[in-house]
Formats: sequence, C-alpha cells, structure tokens
Amino acid sequence: MAEFFIEGQKALDMLRRDVKMNTVRQGYIFEGSDGIGKKTVARHFAQMIFCTEENKPCGKCHGCSMFNAGSHPDFFVLEESPVKIDSVRRMNDELFVKPLISDRKVFIVEHADEMNNESQNAFLKSFEEPPYYAVIILVTSSAHKLLPTIVSRGARVSFSPFSQSEIEGFVTKKYSLTGARASFVARYSAGIVGRSVEICENEEILGKRDGIIAALKDLSHEKITILKVINAMGATGRDTPYDADFYFDVFTSFFRDVAAVKSGGAIINTDYKDVIEGFARNIRASSARRVIDIASRVKMELSSNLKAKMKYDLWITNMLIKCWEEIYGTGNRS
Ligand SMILES: [Zn+2]
Repeated sequence: MAEFFIEGQKALDMLRRDVKMNTVRQGYIFEGSDGIGKKTVARHFAQMIFCTEENKPCGKCHGCSMFNAGSHPDFFVLEESPVKIDSVRRMNDELFVKPLISDRKVFIVEHADEMNNESQNAFLKSFEEPPYYAVIILVTSSAHKLLPTIVSRGARVSFSPFSQSEIEGFVTKKYSLTGARASFVARYSAGIVGRSVEICENEEILGKRDGIIAALKDLSHEKITILKVINAMGATGRDTPYDADFYFDVFTSFFRDVAAVKSGGAIINTDYKDVIEGFARNIRASSARRVIDIASRVKMELSSNLKAKMKYDLWITNMLIKCWEEIYGTGNRS
C-alpha cells in the first residue's frame, strides 16, 4: 500500500488501531477543512474494515478487490451536495439490510453538514441506534453545523492542517519544485495537501500565475498596459472562467506582498521577490490595500451575481481601470 502523506495520518493511525483491536465504533464524525483528506481517510478506513488479511488493507483479498473495483456491496457513499431527503431515506432503508459479503456495512456521508434539519432528523434514529453491523462516517467541515444530538452520538475525529515546512518538504520531494516555488505552493495551499497537489499537478495553473505576475510587472503609467493584465486574468470572453478564483488569488496575493514589502512583512510570492520589490517602489501602501479591496469586491460580485458572471471581461476591465487609477492617479490619463 502506498504511503500516505495526509493531514489525517494521525487520524488514520487511530482508526487502524480501532480495526486491529476490534473496537470500531458505529458512528464517526470526521471534521476538518476542505481538501484536507477526510474523504480519503474515510475510504481507506472502510477498506481496512472490509479487508480480511492481517496487514490491512492488503489490496489483494476478496474484500479489498471488490472495494478497489468500486463494487463492494456493503459499502455506501452519499456524495450528494446538497443532500436530498430522499437519499437519506434510501440510506435509512439500506442500513437495515444485512451485509452481503462482509460482517460490516460501511456508510459515508461526504457532505453531512449539507443535510438540512429535516434530513438530519430523518437520519437521527439511524445514527443513534444503528444495527450492530453498521459503521456510519459523517464528513463535515465543522461539527457545529450538525445537530448537537448527532454530534453527541459520534466519535469525533479531527483533521488539522500541516505546517508550511511540512508541505514544502512534500512538494519538493514529490514534484521536485525549486525552493521559492515550493514555498509559494506551501503558503498558497495553507497547509492543505489536497490543494498543493492540485496546484502542482496542473502545470498550466502555475503558468497562468507567471502570466499574471509578468503582466503586473509591465504595468506602467501607460494606461494601455492594463490590456496585458486583462488577458492574463483570463478575461478574453464574457463567461467567467472556471479558475477565476485562482486568478483573483494570484492578483491579490501580489498586492498583499507589495503592501507587505512596504511594511517590512513577509511575502508569499518569494520566487518573484525582485518584481514585487520593484513594483512596491512606485506605489503607496494605501493604494496597494485599496487595490486589494477593489479586487475582493469584484471577486465577490462575480461569485454571487449571475448577471456579473456573464460579463466577466467587462467586470475585469472596469476593475483594472479602477486599480490603475488608484496606482497611477487619474491625472495621468492621456
Ligand atoms: Zn485485504
């Protein structure tokens, strides 16, 4: 079995003990940020429960083979988001059908906090008094979003983020990134391995970041220079691109770094230290902060306002004109 590098390593070790000592509980609540590895650990845990060999999961026994093929009849995952009441009722029915090939039946609800009160109440009895063979894992970003009665019935397993240096070590080893780039990815992914993998496995995304920073570097008193930034932000059409959030994150992290340079703080985009310092020489700290405000407002608008979403190019152009005026002043218009 491949070795794991997940925030849930500690959780996984604990669950492995549960399996080994035959003390697997009937209800678990996996709690932690998105992308932190809760679902991965939940599946791995399920496979350990189904495995019949000593060294779990062996990957070879009947239980493991069925599980890996995605056809284990005693394994149920509710991936739905938001969770529909009908699905909860189906799961309730399924819960009372005895397992077919294993002596356990494992249920995972991947977005447990997206069950509304009606659904949670429909599920409550199952979770409180499950049949002896059932193991139910509720996955949530925060246990506070679940009914207290549900929370009190489950064993809570918390997943916490890695430190920056741990992620840095991981991406350096796995993706052979250079120092500054590895440190950017580590900071950018905020201690969440899933996010760092996402960035590293998508070379295009790192290239887009390079493009945005290159365009910002060329920004000058000539207003026409915003065109390059408009393109780099993916604003070549009306529709908001799927990775718009990433463009915004890069854009704001750049100006946050510029403000940080001004106040002697630490920067995120360490591989572009020179560019950021150069840019910081021509801008007031207050302007950098206002640019961040402008961009944050537009980002919010684009994610919540459907009409805005369909006019991405327009919103980005207006945003950049505002930012440019903030930096170079309206008096510089030619
Ligand atoms: Zn096995």
